[in-house]
Amino acid sequence: PVILEVSGLNKIYQASNGPVEALRSVDLTVRKGEFICLLGASGCGKSTLLRIIAGFEQATQGSVGVYGCEVRGPGPDRGMVFQDYALFPWLTVRQNIGFGPSHRRVAPQEVDKLTDRFMAMVGLTAFADRYPHQLSGGMKQRVAIARVLANDADILLMDEPFGALDALTRAALQEELIDIWRTTKLTVIFVTHSVEEAVLLADRVVVMSSSPGRIDQDVEIELPRPRD
Ligand code: ADP
Ligand code: ADP
Repeated sequence: PVILEVSGLNKIYQASNGPVEALRSVDLTVRKGEFICLLGASGCGKSTLLRIIAGFEQATQGSVGVYGCEVRGPGPDRGMVFQDYALFPWLTVRQNIGFGPSHRRVAPQEVDKLTDRFMAMVGLTAFADRYPHQLSGGMKQRVAIARVLANDADILLMDEPFGALDALTRAALQEELIDIWRTTKLTVIFVTHSVEEAVLLADRVVVMSSSPGRIDQDVEIELPRPRD
């Protein structure tokens, strides 16, 4: 089934030195459970597309639908993971992960159960009471992923999430993300400029090119990869 339908997206930023055309006629249909990498050089519009899907940015034209309903802003159905983590610095690991459900009408015991489950999934149970500044980059990104999972998002949006990590940590997080995707059957849209990363992670690679940003190729990866 189709979970996300992007159609006819155009985006023009009004910058101080004039208009910038960031996206032209972008269409994208995502099926539930796909792991899509949006791949392209810097400046081709990947982040813009992801932010419009997240609802953080308005398109100039076109529409984004989740399960057939047009979205006009952010919602808990779409969770975002940023390169710079964007954790709440005044909250512990546990509180960061439980933030979403504790601010909806979820019973406190249920919030604790969800938090424990996803904290364990990303291997941070022993760090429950630490604050973000006490964690390594990899650990912070694990918290950010668990926070999206605990909030019961259907679609995990990731904008170069491992770009600020060292190579070893990045490799560990890539493996963990594949495991999480397989366990949860989440739909993932992952922005990267790395061909290696896209081919490693995705089961579908969507290649964008610039001036103006558009989708050039849309390739299903059929070869068995190392994780298979
Ligand atoms: P990518 O994520 O592929 O690097 P972006 O979506 O960040 O690409 O940017 C696409 C284009 O839009 C670039 O030319 C960039 O300079 C421009 N752009 C992005 N954000 C803004 C903004 N807030 N204001 C003006 N121009 C922007
Ligand atoms: P990661 O691979 O998660 O980025 P590092 O390579 O920085 O983590 O650290 C490896 C291990 O060291 C972590 O799994 C954790 O057990 C421990 N560690 C890292 N940072 C801290 C910290 N600030 N406080 C306590 N232990 C830490």
